[in-house]
Amino acid sequence: MSKKKVAIIFGIILLVTCLILLGYGRRHRADIAKRADDIAKTCPRYEIDVAFDPEEKKVVALQKVTIFNDKTEGFEQLYFNLYPNAFKTFDKAPFPRVEMERAYPEGFAPGYINIKNIMVGSSEVNYEIEDTLLKVILKETFQPKNKLVLTVEFEAIIPPSYGRFGYGQNTFNIANWYPILAVCDDEGWHNDPYYNIGDPFYSEVALYQVRIKAPKDYIVAASGSLQEKRNEGDHVIWSFDTGLVRDFAWIAGTNFNIKDINVGNTRITSYYLEDDEIYGTKALEYAQKAIVFFNEYFGVYPYDDYSVVAADFYIGGMEYPNLVMIGSEFYSDGGLLEYVVVHETAHQWWYGLIGNNQIEESWLDEALAEYSTVLYYEHIYGKRAGRRIYEQAILNPYKHYEAVNTPGPILRHLCDFIDWREYSATVYYRGAIMLKDLESRIGKGKLREALRYYFEQNLYKNATTTDLIEALNRACGVDWTEYIYNWLQSTEPLDKAA
Ligand SMILES: [Zn+2]
Repeated sequence: MSKKKVAIIFGIILLVTCLILLGYGRRHRADIAKRADDIAKTCPRYEIDVAFDPEEKKVVALQKVTIFNDKTEGFEQLYFNLYPNAFKTFDKAPFPRVEMERAYPEGFAPGYINIKNIMVGSSEVNYEIEDTLLKVILKETFQPKNKLVLTVEFEAIIPPSYGRFGYGQNTFNIANWYPILAVCDDEGWHNDPYYNIGDPFYSEVALYQVRIKAPKDYIVAASGSLQEKRNEGDHVIWSFDTGLVRDFAWIAGTNFNIKDINVGNTRITSYYLEDDEIYGTKALEYAQKAIVFFNEYFGVYPYDDYSVVAADFYIGGMEYPNLVMIGSEFYSDGGLLEYVVVHETAHQWWYGLIGNNQIEESWLDEALAEYSTVLYYEHIYGKRAGRRIYEQAILNPYKHYEAVNTPGPILRHLCDFIDWREYSATVYYRGAIMLKDLESRIGKGKLREALRYYFEQNLYKNATTTDLIEALNRACGVDWTEYIYNWLQSTEPLDKAA
């Protein structure tokens, strides 16, 4: 065959392959959009009007939630989490005792939420509050396939904490701040308290419209996408709409500078403090590289916006839908900043898009976020650099821990962990070590195939360990159930774990 003919045939094959892939890509995107539409028909819808008062350190809000009963049984009551109440007393504040000075550098003051009134439709209803749990007592049974509109008037007092809900010198971190519907699944209502280890949250996706009225000199970063900024006297009303997300968080500050960049259909914005331009730019670059890579490796991030926000936050980083808070102290060390930004960005997939019960199966999102971070380093900097970061950030810290402690199992309820060190060593490190071990057995390609399937099947839902095993078994054609549970439940030292 002449070279010309070979070139023509090769060209045709290439064209056909491209067209097939293009068609598949389109169909795939259409499938995802359809799934989102279906979920959007029955998920809760929150509309919150909130006035932010930085002088008084509080927010005053009117929240309307439209709830659909898509279960087969009726409800006599509904449960919501009132997380700000976790910050009410010094003794119960959700931080390790030895870290109270770092959590409250200006001293302790209480944070809490006051519920003023709850209506269902047009009639006022009774409710009971116990710590962080709100029980709304319905006047009549909430029947299957019906919907109701619940309106809550509340104010939340913001504590001077450098945590998820609090304020410091530069930022107000307004996360886990409004009454959020508890999850009711096959096991019934999940009414857990706010544990002071891990990320003690579990929620379903919902749609949010949030209007934040803030003094003019404040910049507000939030979940969702900014629809409008409207002046009202010496205030600005910031209106945000979200896609399907499992929470809504925002951060306000007067010292933010902003840089943004587009990746595909997503605008990534870095909010950094005024003096931190070099690291604020780096944070943007890291987030950009991570989104590009995870889009390609796991499945596409479907939201219009993703914000990386420097915050008065002493615990590293924290993930929320479309927004991560990054402790401002990281904006002086590129290496650490990169690791934290990439880990939190990975949570946009493992926690955000694919949720899980972070109280009962925290390993699912944390070990996957750690493993994804190592994948990022391997991809960006090469295999050796990936191995180095894996050893430095995961394997060696774990071995140090194990040298003087007996590790408990990875798969545990949050209330069964002794402290943060044990939690990180097992859930983050040992969990990621398991995934690396698995990768060495089945190959990186198969593990990727399994994670892509896990992503596709569980998009916008809450997944479980069983779902991940199912994805693995499907990709490999071999049953990995015993292997995974051996790892998750083992209390043996690492060399005897598998
Ligand atoms: Zn994490």
